[in-house]
Amino acid sequence: MSAVPARPLLEVRDLGKTFETTRRDASGGRETLRALDGVSFAVGRGRTTGIVGESGSGKSTAARALLRLIEPTQGSVTFDGIDLLALAPEPLRRFRRRMQMVFQDTTGTLDPRMSVGALIEEPLSVHRIGSGAERRAKVASMLERVGFDPAVARRRPHEFSGGQRQRIGIARALALAPELLVLDEPVSALDVSVQAQILNLLKDLQAEFAVSYVFIVHDLHVAEFFCDEIVVLYLGEVMEAGPSAALFGAPQHPYTASLVSAVPTVRRGAAPARRIILEGEIAPISGERPKGCIFRPRCPIGRDRALCADVRPPLATTAAGHAAACHYPGELAP
Ligand code: ADP
Ligand code: MG
Repeated sequence: MSAVPARPLLEVRDLGKTFETTRRDASGGRETLRALDGVSFAVGRGRTTGIVGESGSGKSTAARALLRLIEPTQGSVTFDGIDLLALAPEPLRRFRRRMQMVFQDTTGTLDPRMSVGALIEEPLSVHRIGSGAERRAKVASMLERVGFDPAVARRRPHEFSGGQRQRIGIARALALAPELLVLDEPVSALDVSVQAQILNLLKDLQAEFAVSYVFIVHDLHVAEFFCDEIVVLYLGEVMEAGPSAALFGAPQHPYTASLVSAVPTVRRGAAPARRIILEGEIAPISGERPKGCIFRPRCPIGRDRALCADVRPPLATTAAGHAAACHYPGELAP
């Protein structure tokens, strides 16, 4: 099944983000940390692209950079044919109603002093949409749509549970009927039963609002259930990308293979997985990146190979039909 249509809603090409750190390098300048390096992926209309990877792999940086909540230092982001990185501040501000973000931690986005109704109405007022009465009607319908009695509009966020607050955050993000929602680990802090309710709600809302999702997640069960396409990040680079079923069913990159092997039930219908344990831990690389494969120090098959030490593997289509950035794709199967 070819997943991404010819003209996706969002195309991210060669995205990069370098942060200056507080540390000094050998020449006395600020040491830099490249949190994203050459990241490319697409999101089809009404579809979900998942970004997975360990903590520190650059998922949140990618989410914020593609929305220009932080400025990328390299690459391009095209949304419905519009070059987002070329937008001046005022056109960018107006454009923002077409793409919204939902965070894991609602305390940062839901001001505790505001009522739930005011919180959901705020983006509508900011973008001057509708009359006061129309906006309040919209708030009531959004609250109902995410499972509340509209009367809760008068209450404040702290009166709600974590899962309920996430519903409020989703109602606020969807009030503008954006075409793209970027969700950064929206269910990671919630109990499994609450997670399932929120994920089902998001699925229903996706169909109803015809909205595309970039869904950042580190639980592979959730990724497999929820996402059409998957992008696997490691230290800011794409290791593997492809349709969810293909990628989890036959991971081609040793990093993906190790992630998949840690949750054997992800490979429904496939042979039982053997656990692939990686050596060491993900460790941010400041300054110059190595010339070869970024994953090599932890790679069970590449650690001692000269090609892996010398040449960065391009993200290329493998025999399995989807892309991996590995010189020896498919060699290490879980
Ligand atoms: P993830 O969301 O996958 O856990 P992040 O995108 O948050 O990863 O972080 C990727 C890397 O970038 C990490 O090494 C992190 O410490 C670094 N980083 C993120 N934000 C900043 C920042 N504002 N300044 C400096 N380094 C940052
Ligand atoms: Mg993060």
